[in-house]
Amino acid sequence: MSARRGEAWSHVLINAERALAVSSLGELVALLPDEHAVTEVLNEHLAQGSAVLVPEKGRWRLRYESSSVSAQAAFTLAKLVILDDGFARVKQCARCRQPFVDQTSARTGKRCAEHLRSPGENRRYP
Ligand SMILES: [Zn+2]
Repeated sequence: MSARRGEAWSHVLINAERALAVSSLGELVALLPDEHAVTEVLNEHLAQGSAVLVPEKGRWRLRYESSSVSAQAAFTLAKLVILDDGFARVKQCARCRQPFVDQTSARTGKRCAEHLRSPGENRRYP
């Protein structure tokens, strides 16, 4: 993976996390692991806007246009799902139930950023 791709991937993860936080889309996490149900909700939001292919700095980009915050968030989340081949990174924190995007390389994260343990913390108590 090139540095450029790595940086782009980081942005996809961060933007997807923000999308879950700033919109009603966080509620769809409760539908998981039923990916078809989640997809149906995402598609309803995506239908509130339109995608346009545009040239940008010598590359091609798919730009999504909508006045709906949840539709824009759905597009951001859809990019994560496409690039990561599924919803495995979209999770609910084991401690506070808030939706979050698992940014671990092995997709093994179980807690939101706020509830991640520090390395030296006692692990006996969740
Ligand atoms: Zn949490």
